[in-house]
Amino acid sequence: MPVHLIEGDLSPDLLEAYLASEYLAIDTETMGLNPHRDRLCLIQLCNEHDRVTVIRVTTLVMPRLVELLQAERPMKIFHYGRFDLAMLRKNLGVRVWNLYDTKVASKLARTYTQAHGLKDLVRDVLGFSLDKSAQQTDWGSANLSSHQLEYSANDVRYLIQLKARLDEMLSREGRLDLAQECFRHLPTLAELDLAGWQGLYEH
Ligand code: MN
Repeated sequence: MPVHLIEGDLSPDLLEAYLASEYLAIDTETMGLNPHRDRLCLIQLCNEHDRVTVIRVTTLVMPRLVELLQAERPMKIFHYGRFDLAMLRKNLGVRVWNLYDTKVASKLARTYTQAHGLKDLVRDVLGFSLDKSAQQTDWGSANLSSHQLEYSANDVRYLIQLKARLDEMLSREGRLDLAQECFRHLPTLAELDLAGWQGLYEH
């Protein structure tokens, strides 16, 4: 399905379609890695029917998106959600739950490697090469290139497939429950990051 670019909040139809989904893959693009300094530029969504929406963030008043993010269903799937959760918390005030993280799952399941980036994971688990060449580009632009749009969509497009494969591995290794506990902790971790706590669990 083609990528759907919108500005501002979801339409009522889109909200309904996503609320009826089982899974919702989510990613964000920002001006940088500091949630207190850097602007949230894009929010990408994709459900199990490959319906991709890229939201260009032109307002932080998005009640329908907030409703979707705070709903129990669909399950929300991130790759390194720790950062996206902090960004979404900081900008939209939402606390997301019922979530899954493909990077955390990968670290718990694929202990034979240290390569847990999305590109590595897709290559190893799904068997193809993901184009990441737009990663460090100006996401704040009002005129996103088609290359940027495709790239941003690709960051959510494979997360649901990855979850299925990672769950098989986690189950095989007896780590599904541990993974669940880790996912449940992520909103708290994002909250600690935002509040400036570092190394809380260190000696
Ligand atoms: Mn991304």
